[in-house]
Amino acid sequence: MRPVTRGDSPRCEAGDEREFAHYHDARDDLEARLGAYCSYCELPLQHSPHVEHVQPKSCHPELATRWENLLLACGHCNSCKGSEDVALGDYLWPDRDNTAWAFGYDSGGNVNVRAGLTPAGNDRATRTIDLLGLTNRPTVSDRRRRWRRHAWDVALRAKGNLAANGGEALRRQVRDTALGHGFFSVWMTVFRDDADMCRRFIEAFPGTADGCFDESGVPKPSIERRGVGA
Ligand SMILES: [Zn+2]
Repeated sequence: MRPVTRGDSPRCEAGDEREFAHYHDARDDLEARLGAYCSYCELPLQHSPHVEHVQPKSCHPELATRWENLLLACGHCNSCKGSEDVALGDYLWPDRDNTAWAFGYDSGGNVNVRAGLTPAGNDRATRTIDLLGLTNRPTVSDRRRRWRRHAWDVALRAKGNLAANGGEALRRQVRDTALGHGFFSVWMTVFRDDADMCRRFIEAFPGTADGCFDESGVPKPSIERRGVGA
């Protein structure tokens, strides 16, 4: 799960913090800051991304339009998460934790809890996968896992092409292909031995929390954002 930084609340021309009359009004700003990707499953959101409330608006109406409570999500993650109240500390969140360290990805399109987390970290990561249904079997409507697997295959081919041809132009093209296909964490996993490409992905996907990775693009080994950097 890509760790993100949404930044301070957008400001209007007069310099004041922008008040959103409706949470939908934050969509363009969120997309500009975070890119059009689901904040949880990383699916590219080509059609009307959902503005996601980290803490449900039904339980916390005062947070319905608060910038700090908003992310972007696909319909599947949004509906799996539902409107039950969530204790933030029981889960891992892309805008609060180093989620790059918490999860692993494989060629089958699966998401796993990374080995080596503390027992408490393991519990939070497991609950997060369950909350969002990230390992749900693909259905006609829920295509998250299928598209994740497809992104893996595309990334593998891109890696092969790069090994055969190399060159700056192809590296830029691979970066752009990743942006088009989404699933940042899949690309970071497939290219984990290529620090140059990992750094390009971190810089290209808007809002990626750079401080969660070292200079080689490897996730820093802690789920805590504090001390890791934003
Ligand atoms: Zn999603």
